[in-house]
Amino acid sequence: VKSIAVLTSGGDSQGMNAAVRAVVRSALYHGLEVYGVQRGYQGLINDDLRPMDLRSVGDIIQRGGTILQTARCKEFLTPEGQQRGADILRARGIDGLVVIGGDGSYQGANKLSKLGIKTMGLPGTIDNDIPFTDFTIGFDTAVSIVVDAINKLRDTMTSHERSSVVEVMGRHCGDIALYAGLASGAETILVPEVPFDLAQVASRMRENFQHGKRHSIIVVAEGAGTGEEVGREITARNGIEPRVTVLGHIQRGGTPTHKDRILASQLGDFAVRKLIEGDSGKGCGIIKGEFVVTDIDKVVNTKKPFNMELYELASRLSQ
Ligand code: ATP
Repeated sequence: VKSIAVLTSGGDSQGMNAAVRAVVRSALYHGLEVYGVQRGYQGLINDDLRPMDLRSVGDIIQRGGTILQTARCKEFLTPEGQQRGADILRARGIDGLVVIGGDGSYQGANKLSKLGIKTMGLPGTIDNDIPFTDFTIGFDTAVSIVVDAINKLRDTMTSHERSSVVEVMGRHCGDIALYAGLASGAETILVPEVPFDLAQVASRMRENFQHGKRHSIIVVAEGAGTGEEVGREITARNGIEPRVTVLGHIQRGGTPTHKDRILASQLGDFAVRKLIEGDSGKGCGIIKGEFVVTDIDKVVNTKKPFNMELYELASRLSQ
C-alpha cells in the first residue's frame, strides 16, 4: 500500500481521536499518504476526504469524540453504496482503509475488503462487545466514569441509609456493568449474560440490611433491563424506594484514560503495519497483552464470551 484512509463510524467513544492520531502518524512515519474521511461511510460515498499531515492530528490525543466525526449511513448497506465507496477510494489512489468503530462498521470494512480495498478494523466502542480483543477503545474510560459516579452516589447513600440502582450502557454486553460493579463494590450486578430473579435480588437486599448493611448498590446493564424497572420491583417487594440513576451518554464523553490512549495508539500503529504487510479484511485486537488480527467474518459472527470468573468474584465479595 502507498496511500491509506482512516474513518470513524457508528457510535463514538473516547480514544477514537488517539486512534486516528496513531494511524495518521504511523502511516506518515512509514512513508504512506493518509486521508481522513469525514463522517464515516457517509463521508466516503460523498467523497468527503482530506489529506492528513502530522499537524492535522495535533492536540487531539486527550479529546473525547472524534475529529473525523461519525455517522450511520443507510446507503452503505447496499451493494451500490459499497461499490461507490470502493470506486472513490480507488479513484484517489487509496488502497488501504482503517475503520474505527463497532461491529456494524466492521461489516462495512469487510464489504470493502471483498471489493479489493485492503481494510483493517479497530474496535472503537465503549461497550466492549467486540470479540477477539480483551478490550475495546473507550471501555476503560466509560468504566471509570461509572465508578466515579457510583463513588459520589455512595457518599450520599451512606448518609441517608439508602439504596441506589444505577443503569449503565453496553447494549447487549454486560461488561461495563460487570467491571464498574466490581470496582465500586456493588451489591448486585445485573447483566444480560446471566439470568436473574428480581424477587431474589430484593430479598437478598432485605437480609443484608437486617444484618447491618447501610447501603446497597445495584448496577444494571441496559441490556438486562432499565433502572426504573428494577427500582419499581425493589419498591414493590421491600417497601423502600431506591434512588434510580441513569447515566446515559456521559459514559461516552470526556477525556480518555491513559489506558484507552495507549491502547488506541498501539492498535492504530499495529493496523497500519498490518496493512503495509498486505493483510486485509481483519479486525485488530489485544489478547493477554498480544496484538492479534482476526478475520472480520469471524469477528462479526462470534459473540464475545462473558467473564464468568470475574462475575462470580464480584458476587463473592459483595456479601
Ligand atoms: P456502535 O456499536 O458503537 O454503535 P457500530 O459500528 O456497530 O458502532 P452501526 O450503526 O451498526 O454502528 O454501523 C455503522 C455503519 O456501518 C452503518 O451506518 C453502515 O453505514 C455501516 N454498516 C453496518 N452494517 C453494515 C453491513 N452489514 N454492510 C455494510 N455496511 C454496514
